[in-house]
Amino acid sequence: MNKNVAMRLKPTSKSEDRTALNYRWYEFHPLVNALFAGAFAILAYFVFKVVLVNDFVKILLYVLLILLSSFYWAKEAIANLIDKKEIGTGILVIAAVIGSIVLGLWSEAVFLSILYGTAEGIEDYTYARTRHSIRSLLKLIPKEARVILKGKEKIIPAKNLKVGEIFLVKPGETIPTDGVIVKGSAHIDESSVTGEFNPVIKYIGDNAFAGTINTDGFLEIRVTSLFKDNTISKIIELVERAQEGKSKTQLFIERFGRIYSPIVLVTALILIIIPHMLGISYSLWSTRAISFLVAAAPCALIMSTPVTIAAGIGKAGKHGVLVKGGIYLGVLGHTGTVLLDKTGTLTLGKMTLVKIVPIDVDKNSLLSIVYSIEKLSNHPIAKALAKEIKPSNPQNFDISNFKEIPGLGVKGKIGTDLFYIGRPENNKDIKSIKKYTDASFMDGKIVVIVKKNGRVTGILALSDSIRPDARVTIQRLYRKNIHIAMLTGDNKNSAYRIATKLGIEDVRSNLRPEDKLKIVEEFKHRVGAVVMVGDGVNDALALATADVGIAMGVIGTDVAIEAADVAFMSDDFKNILFILDLGKKVRQINTQNIILSVFVLSILIPLTLFGIINIPFAVVFHELSELFAVSNGVRAGLST
Ligand code: ADP
Ligand code: MG
Repeated sequence: MNKNVAMRLKPTSKSEDRTALNYRWYEFHPLVNALFAGAFAILAYFVFKVVLVNDFVKILLYVLLILLSSFYWAKEAIANLIDKKEIGTGILVIAAVIGSIVLGLWSEAVFLSILYGTAEGIEDYTYARTRHSIRSLLKLIPKEARVILKGKEKIIPAKNLKVGEIFLVKPGETIPTDGVIVKGSAHIDESSVTGEFNPVIKYIGDNAFAGTINTDGFLEIRVTSLFKDNTISKIIELVERAQEGKSKTQLFIERFGRIYSPIVLVTALILIIIPHMLGISYSLWSTRAISFLVAAAPCALIMSTPVTIAAGIGKAGKHGVLVKGGIYLGVLGHTGTVLLDKTGTLTLGKMTLVKIVPIDVDKNSLLSIVYSIEKLSNHPIAKALAKEIKPSNPQNFDISNFKEIPGLGVKGKIGTDLFYIGRPENNKDIKSIKKYTDASFMDGKIVVIVKKNGRVTGILALSDSIRPDARVTIQRLYRKNIHIAMLTGDNKNSAYRIATKLGIEDVRSNLRPEDKLKIVEEFKHRVGAVVMVGDGVNDALALATADVGIAMGVIGTDVAIEAADVAFMSDDFKNILFILDLGKKVRQINTQNIILSVFVLSILIPLTLFGIINIPFAVVFHELSELFAVSNGVRAGLST
């Protein structure tokens, strides 16, 4: 991972109380209250059977049990009513409890309050657990660090590490915070950050991340970020924040709930008032009205989607895939097109310089010019050129007016001469390099020209290798009936060579950033969502326009990662399959839950209206369907 992917994603909000996540179920008050009330109610039931208790004491006990079991959920429902002017499912249940009390159905009221409280407690607890499951990553970071102070080793709390200090990590130890290796090399297991289990070898100058394990070397690392700002902390914050970005289904259900719940409440009132006015059995219809209130409360519908999304995002996070909002998972679930950038996405973006053709200039000056200018750019080609030329001790010219043109190349002035390094800009360029670039020269290479004051003065050819998993991944995507297109700023020849090796049929080459954007828009007219995967500045427009933009987290530039909705922390291209499958699963679970909820509602409502089931029955069925939907949602976080 270059620099700090997570940092670049800039989390803004502070997440809520961190310690609150470590509670066990028996420490979770809403649930414990309800269960305690339940146990007490059962006990009271048997005591009342054998001991004669006067009505006043009984009622006092009922009131206590109701208050105890409903304390949390009723408080929340009332707060929502006051703050958000929202009649939620909680209000429906409060109405049902009060209704039962008015009718003198005390034990029904207690039963309802306890059961609803228990179900809500289980749900909230599950939600909190799912939401914060990603936090288990924090436990991976050691609490202490071995610093070197005045040449001596000393153990200090990791949170006291300051930027610039040097710490030591021995074989088998976990790295306490982010830093740069200043001494030694080692295989580092980065699975906690990237989800990738194969250790990567790291040398002096490479970044090391908190929570990753030094498997075999002695490392001295210079702190680059404080303990609280390290990569894992940022990932966690980001993933938690993402869960707040609501999916379309969720927004729809909430909007539906805002209209639906008041209708239920009014209907129940009508069921009580009209028979009363007509003088027909008041108590019969009132009981039905209360059963109806319980049966019609859309709890399963409202609670199951957030649980599903939270579970899905948490799972993705543990896999090294950062999803920036709940909405994207659902969208990924109906992907129709995957658009792929070539350099850096399908290829490793680690190029080697294979040919140098100086024209009217000696080779060393050409290389010095290229080195001095490309050193200033972050493009994978630029990095490769600078790295390859450096050992030949190039001259270092002062560059003025440096400019990067995404998808094209770079410009800069040396003295009064204006240089351009990049792909051929026009037909004139192509013509003037023609005699040097025969088929064997091109052979799938990236061709870069160097121009001095508008005239070609050199040609460079670079070769890049395809990512090892790319071909298999592409085939699997095709098997999912997904349309694939490769979008590249590179030349046609190079583009087709790579596409043929990968088996991609739809190839678009010589694209500028705005051309990539147009292609994304073109595909949006087709069936299914458009997913764009890229890494460069030149992909940023397309990433932002696609239904879901995915950035490569390691090689990717800041701009691309910020424009994208999802980032692959390990640059593992295979992750596209993982995230599409996860999206599909989330979508399926949501659909199942909606169908189940609507089905249960449509059965329970008539049964209560015709008086076929009474209040306790309605309560039990209602809560069961709710818990079923929630446990179904939890599945999104389990492995398949
Ligand atoms: P892709 O779309 O495949 O990721 P880019 O759009 O980033 O590729 O680059 C397209 C072409 O532009 C490259 O093949 C190269 O010829 C040229 N180019 C872009 N940036 C640079 C640079 N810094 N130096 C040299 N050539 C560049
Ligand atoms: Mg690229």
